[in-house]
Amino acid sequence: MGSLLYLHQYQIQNFINAPEQFKPGVAYEWKGEDVYHAYLEYPRIAPSGYAVACLFLKVQNKTDFDNAETLVEEMKKSNSEFDRFNVIIVFRLENGQLLKRAFLPNKPDIQIRIEYIPDKSNLYTRSKGLIEVGALEKRNVLIVGLGSGGASIAVELAKAGVGNFVLVDFDRLELHNISRHIAGVNELGRLKTNIVRDAILGKNPYANVNTYPIDIMEDTTTIEGLVSETDLVVAATDSLPSRYLLNALIIKYNKVGLFGRAVTRAEGGDVLRVRPGGPCYACLKGSQWYTHEEEITDLRRARETGVIPAYTSEDDANAMVQVGLSTDIAPINTMVVKLAIQELSKGTDCLITTLDQELNYDFYMWANRRELHFANWAPFNNNPGRKKPTILQWYGVKFPKSCDCNECKHY
Ligand SMILES: [Zn+2]
Repeated sequence: MGSLLYLHQYQIQNFINAPEQFKPGVAYEWKGEDVYHAYLEYPRIAPSGYAVACLFLKVQNKTDFDNAETLVEEMKKSNSEFDRFNVIIVFRLENGQLLKRAFLPNKPDIQIRIEYIPDKSNLYTRSKGLIEVGALEKRNVLIVGLGSGGASIAVELAKAGVGNFVLVDFDRLELHNISRHIAGVNELGRLKTNIVRDAILGKNPYANVNTYPIDIMEDTTTIEGLVSETDLVVAATDSLPSRYLLNALIIKYNKVGLFGRAVTRAEGGDVLRVRPGGPCYACLKGSQWYTHEEEITDLRRARETGVIPAYTSEDDANAMVQVGLSTDIAPINTMVVKLAIQELSKGTDCLITTLDQELNYDFYMWANRRELHFANWAPFNNNPGRKKPTILQWYGVKFPKSCDCNECKHY
């Protein structure tokens, strides 16, 4: 079997139009798999694999193209710099057509097939009809908080074809995040904004992603500007003050906001949708539906953000860190994504809008287990007349806008 080499079309176009006859680049190889991805400039998406030096070469005539191996040997003789290239990629324009071939100087017997990663893609044509892909491409989503919730939601929205993202989080990826985050140990220490940007671009290389590694509680001017310009706010932060701030801004600028969270040990979770004129996060906090037990996943963050009160002893605080399973958070993320797509497809003519008749609640609750707060929920297989909420099924609630609510009564 031969090797396979991928090139980004836009990089090759730049090279062909440039005056240089050759340019050094980098190829990333998956050892033992005979697959290379070659780059002329640092790619928008962080590459993986092992880096090897590669040379991009343009030739004029057919002989040089067919016998590029000899040409490269001659170049090596005059300049030992060329010894370091393990992959050579050769181009030639013939009657307006760009011919390309590649070889490995140290393994001349290996045949290499070249594939282009195109400039404009039809990656999402399969979703056409189900959702209005063209419409989602133009929409802009602001995601605040890129932990196990926000990061997964961002990637799902990219897969659906959403074209514009603004990502806000000042945290870096730490070891204790790994079991539930989309990122792995190879990205430890990186800013979550950059990790998620790369993950989005990996799914949709044509998305526009702007990152803000800021603390919204300290830089309220920036977050206010971002909320005012977006089509939808996904509030996936883990502190009450940040949710209140986002809530106030969502109301002020007449936006739709989705607040998703897990409660203690991810025994369940909920999603609140704040819509213009409807109840808000502060209204929910005053309602019978609100569960006060927050899931606490990170001691330091919980201390800083006031989720764990300052007077709590170190031992008590440690006992409060109770992390649920990733799979128990997944349903909550999925509901946020469904509601996000529903909101972003508003005004378009597509099949998924039939869900408007069902997904019309302000607040959605989910229980993974009949424990603690959800102890009196009906079991999955025994709920006569569906009089009570059932575990492992969504339960939608409409609740009134509260007159006492300081946030939304003025609007
Ligand atoms: Zn309110």
